[in-house]
Amino acid sequence: MPTITPVLGDITTQEVDAIVNAANNAMRGGGGVDGAIHRAGGPDILRDCIARFPDGLATGDAGWTTAGDLPARWVIHTVGPNYAAGQRDRALLESCYRRVLEVADELGARTVAFPLISAGVYGWPLPDAVAVAVETITSTPTKVEEARLVALGDNPFALLREAMPPSA
Ligand code: ADP
Repeated sequence: MPTITPVLGDITTQEVDAIVNAANNAMRGGGGVDGAIHRAGGPDILRDCIARFPDGLATGDAGWTTAGDLPARWVIHTVGPNYAAGQRDRALLESCYRRVLEVADELGARTVAFPLISAGVYGWPLPDAVAVAVETITSTPTKVEEARLVALGDNPFALLREAMPPSA
C-alpha cells in the first residue's frame, strides 16, 4: 500500500516519477489542472496525446504520455466522471485511481502525484472526492510507494488532512 502524502500546492511542480492529469475524453487539453499541465509541460504533451490517443480516453480509464518540460517523467491522464453533467457513478471515479495505479505499475513509477479528480469543473462534491481518492489508493494493490494527493486550495487541503488514514 502506498504512503499517502497530502500536499498543498501546484501539481506541475511536483518532483515525482509521474503526475496525474484530470483530463477530458478528447485529451486535447482543457481548463483547470489539465490546462496547467499542458502550459507548464509544453507542446510535447499534446503531441504525445494526439499520437498515442487518437480517439482519446474513456471515462474511468487512464493512459500515459511524456511529461515534456515538467520535473516528472510521465503524465498519466485519466478522465473522471462529470458529476455536473449527471455522471454520478462512484465506481467510475474509483476506476480512475485504480487505472492510474495500474499504468504507474506498467511504467515502474514509484512516486505519483494526483490531483482531486473530478472535484473541479466536473463538480464532484469535494468531501466525497477526497474520500474516494484516499479509500481507493489505500485499497489497490500496487508497487507505487508514495502517492501524493495535491490540493490547490486551503479548503481541499484541510479536507485531505482530515481524511488521512490514522497511520499517515
Ligand atoms: P475536473 O474537470 O476533473 O473536475 P479540474 O481540473 O477542474 O478537473 O479540477 C480537479 C481538481 O484539481 C480541483 O480540485 C482543482 O482545484 C484542482 N487543480 C486545478 N489546478 C491545479 C493545479 N495546478 N495543481 C493541483 N490541483 C489543481
